[in-house]
Amino acid sequence: MQKIFLYNTLTRKKEEFKPINDGEVGLYACGPTVYNFAHLGNLRAYLFEDLLKRTLQYNGYKVKHVMNITDVGHLTGDMDMGQDKMEKGAARDGKSAWEVAEFYTEAFKKDLRVLNIVEPSIWCKATDNIPEQIAMIITLEEKGFTYKTSDGIYFDTSRVKDYNKLSHLDLETLREGARVEKNEEKKNPTDFALWKFSPVGVKRQMEWESPWGIGFPGWHIECSTMSLKFLGDQLDIHCGGIDHINIHHTNEIAQSEAATGKKFFNYWMHGAFLNIAGGKKMAKSADNFLTLDKVFTENNLNPLAYRFAALQTNYRKPMEYSEEAIAWAASSLTGLYEKIIALGREIGIIDENYKHKFLEKINDDLNFPEALAVLHEVLKSDLSPADKLATVSDFDLVLGLKLGNFKSFINNEIVAEESEYVKYIFGLKEKRDLARAQNNWLESDKIRKEIADNGFEVKDDANGSRLIPFDYHKIFTEPNGFKYDYINGDLYVNKTNNVVIFEEFLIFSDWRNAWPVLFRKYDNVKYFFNNNISETDKLDIYKRYWN
Ligand SMILES: [Zn+2]
Repeated sequence: MQKIFLYNTLTRKKEEFKPINDGEVGLYACGPTVYNFAHLGNLRAYLFEDLLKRTLQYNGYKVKHVMNITDVGHLTGDMDMGQDKMEKGAARDGKSAWEVAEFYTEAFKKDLRVLNIVEPSIWCKATDNIPEQIAMIITLEEKGFTYKTSDGIYFDTSRVKDYNKLSHLDLETLREGARVEKNEEKKNPTDFALWKFSPVGVKRQMEWESPWGIGFPGWHIECSTMSLKFLGDQLDIHCGGIDHINIHHTNEIAQSEAATGKKFFNYWMHGAFLNIAGGKKMAKSADNFLTLDKVFTENNLNPLAYRFAALQTNYRKPMEYSEEAIAWAASSLTGLYEKIIALGREIGIIDENYKHKFLEKINDDLNFPEALAVLHEVLKSDLSPADKLATVSDFDLVLGLKLGNFKSFINNEIVAEESEYVKYIFGLKEKRDLARAQNNWLESDKIRKEIADNGFEVKDDANGSRLIPFDYHKIFTEPNGFKYDYINGDLYVNKTNNVVIFEEFLIFSDWRNAWPVLFRKYDNVKYFFNNNISETDKLDIYKRYWN
């Protein structure tokens, strides 16, 4: 295995990555607080994490990726004052806090899909893990790290020796930062809430019984609890945005190490901000709250252009947002697609020299700007078009720009996660193939019928059997004049309403062959994006299938 070097915030050094268990990586990424849409700045962090994960996978590691959904406990102040973000969102949207969480969780997952970010292996919600959080607070209490104030149970940071080891700030600076949110009862400004009491006389929408009274967990405790619960001892890499360093991650480390007596994660990695041209950080305030939909979809721009733009800047450097930069990225990406389409469809052999060069760049703390340069070198080289295509398709396993031919995805872990439904359907297909091979026509017909009941037609040809969803005919014959024969993309089946949805996944793969291997477990995918149809038609389909 090649060496990978990653910048570790904890040591402030680029270090050779060494996982705890050979060949496996436990990766924890702090997820969204689901009270509003994610903005482009938030999404940049998830792009960075996706590139990290794909780099590890490309190197042959099996990555267990856990992401939490903060659906309770995150207050408008990063410390422990202010309003609960969920209840605030609920009041704003006229919904319950639970509905708000559900709605924005789905919106977030949709954003990830649109950006071709591989889903985490495990999603976990703070509200699904309340007893575990309470248990950790009890442990901290037993070990003498907590105290009680009138509004909650707090962690005493003065009991921790190296509280500033992640931020590398002197304690006085950390204390100053913490004093912004005044709380007279705290022993030290940096102390933080583990459990907050529901205000007297107020019935909160989200609250639970605890040994200390009815209330809700503080924000930081959820990530400590869930990373330990889902990763166990596999605490390799913990990531988030740089805004997490001084408070959230610092507190996660303090309480986790206090509770377990062991080191909490070996590598801490942080993605830099997206700034609005002029240097202002993108925030959820009205004027610069830019979402993927607002910037891309509503302007008929390919949202992958954002991914492409993010690849041009090192993840540790601030990235600048401007309309010009986005327009440039969109047209450059289209230019790249055109070059690749011009290579034809024949797939040759991956060029090992270029692969090695590419690997060296991405393994050097995710140096994607230079990795992209290698991609351009390949396209300009004197390799045959078929070998270029093979090499570029291989790089795209990491880049995720949908450049490649589908063949490079077959048998790849990145798309190997199948839903129970897909397993079931393909299980039936295999059973039928076997029955046919044994000339057991009665059995094969019976299974064909069962497959049909599940919405698929079986087609037999020289290459074996294929499954064609019935709904695909329905969509194809809709009276809107789309030339579906030219569509290249994935097919997804939505089990709930049995609608087949297309996604422009790989711009020139032959969907007739490609789709069975590209099934994924996205039961709620409802979007349709394709470069080969007109912008107006795209918008029309988008409106009808993606709402
Ligand atoms: Zn977190």
